[in-house]
Amino acid sequence: MEKTLVILKPSAVQRSIVGEVVSRFEKKGLQIVGMKMVSLSDSILEEHYSHLKEKPFFKRIKDSMQVSPVIVMALEGLEAVEVVRMMAGPTNGRKAQPGTIRGDYSVSVQENIIHASDSPETAEAELKRFFLENEIFNYPSPAFVNLYAND
Ligand code: GDP
Ligand code: MG
Repeated sequence: MEKTLVILKPSAVQRSIVGEVVSRFEKKGLQIVGMKMVSLSDSILEEHYSHLKEKPFFKRIKDSMQVSPVIVMALEGLEAVEVVRMMAGPTNGRKAQPGTIRGDYSVSVQENIIHASDSPETAEAELKRFFLENEIFNYPSPAFVNLYAND
């Protein structure tokens, strides 16, 4: 089993599509093992988007992540990191396939609805960044056997 971090960005919160997006993950079979609403500080965003800090649009990204609180989620499943990235689609909503979250709800590079961890290593670091240990839950999922069968 693998865990991954999803952030429902202000572009999801302000457009009132949080429920729809969360519902997609539930219907897919991913287990919600952590979820809360938070306001993101400058320092957490500077860490989270450190790979972009030299970019001319860095301040815009930071501002856009602070126009409202966000929802941070921890999702668990087999190969959850890859599954969730596939569901998110590529960064640019205009280039994302219909059927993906960004493809269905976004026409923007920046306002692209969700963040999703891009590797198991990143996911581990990102979950630690946004959740305390006791905010991630381990509980039985009755659907588990039916969801995965053997693999
Ligand atoms: P992701 O992993 O698909 O979210 O993409 P990145 O890690 O490359 O970028 C993080 C976030 O920064 C993206 O989800 C966008 O919200 C934003 N971003 C990335 N590239 C650009 C850009 O060229 N312009 C603007 N305005 N925002 C960008
Ligand atoms: Mg990224």
